[in-house]
Amino acid sequence: MAKKVLLSGIQATGKLHFGNYFGAMKQNIDLANSGEYEAYIFIADYHALTTVKDKDLLISSTYEIAAAYIACGLDLTKAKLFRQSQVPEHTELTVVLNNVVTMPYLMRAHAFKDHEAKDKEVNVGLFDYPVLMAADILIYKADVVPVGADQKQHIEYARDIAGFYNRAWNVEEFPLPKEVILESVATIPGVDGEKMSKSKGNVISLFGSDEEVKKAVMGIVTDSASPEEKKDPHTNNIYNIHKHFLNDEEVLLLRTKFEQGGYGYKAAKDDLLITIMRWREGRKEVFDELMANPAKIQAILEDGGTQARAKAQLTIQEVRGQIGL
Ligand code: ATP
Ligand code: MG
Repeated sequence: MAKKVLLSGIQATGKLHFGNYFGAMKQNIDLANSGEYEAYIFIADYHALTTVKDKDLLISSTYEIAAAYIACGLDLTKAKLFRQSQVPEHTELTVVLNNVVTMPYLMRAHAFKDHEAKDKEVNVGLFDYPVLMAADILIYKADVVPVGADQKQHIEYARDIAGFYNRAWNVEEFPLPKEVILESVATIPGVDGEKMSKSKGNVISLFGSDEEVKKAVMGIVTDSASPEEKKDPHTNNIYNIHKHFLNDEEVLLLRTKFEQGGYGYKAAKDDLLITIMRWREGRKEVFDELMANPAKIQAILEDGGTQARAKAQLTIQEVRGQIGL
């Protein structure tokens, strides 16, 4: 039987953080490395254009995502790692799919509604983001798309859009994709308690300098409870970040410390920092070494892109045949 297809993307919009790692990267790496999937992991540089108009930021973010995946253990013999823009078929399929999607349907998308609610300008790229994302998924006929909870609606859109296409041309071209969200990691809070996001800057970065990480951890927003007071771990940003690094037993121990009292926020932050620095051991060296050698990253992406494109071209050929292009 053919392997199931796994797909996942990260936008090249800034420094990677532990929300990206626990919400998406870790699952992708585990699933891809299991060898049970045909895995496509891409850097969403077309998507990033909706917000990034700085060439250097786009390029550095691209390299960082690639280097981070490798540093975190992605086995390149089991996954194709590439940039979205190496496979222009993503955009060709978007142009086709745009014709089965209505404006009111896209106006219900969270990202669009959020921008409208905040009176922010919406460019057409942002408005059409769900269709490009559907194309990302459908061009590889992905079965499984591991994402954080914030992306759930986009997967539902991709599923709808697959159906719209199949019905419009009366074909069975696209299978309906599923998301994979681990409930326990659904949304990692940032240092301000909002969703941790590259573009919000409320992050603890995976591979920033030690000073940067320390500053972020020490800046985690807490209430003003004194060290002696008992604390509810569930409403506590330090706990809600720290727990993702720990096994069940360690989580229980940490929870008990907060609940019993006598565990102040400063001590809790110091402990979290130790955990993070331990996580970075080994990984950070690999990351830094790759970042110092962009030609190597480039070669890895070239290779992944070539393989991914071969598959995307097969889908586009089928689509062209079905619709009369
Ligand atoms: P941006 O602010 O540019 O949207 P982002 O930090 O939200 O960046 P994305 O590139 O949009 O990151 O998302 C990459 C992956 O990381 C997605 O699968 C998304 O669900 C996941 N992710 C992002 N932030 C979090 C978070 N705080 N908790 C869990 N998963 C997250
Ligand atoms: Mg995002």
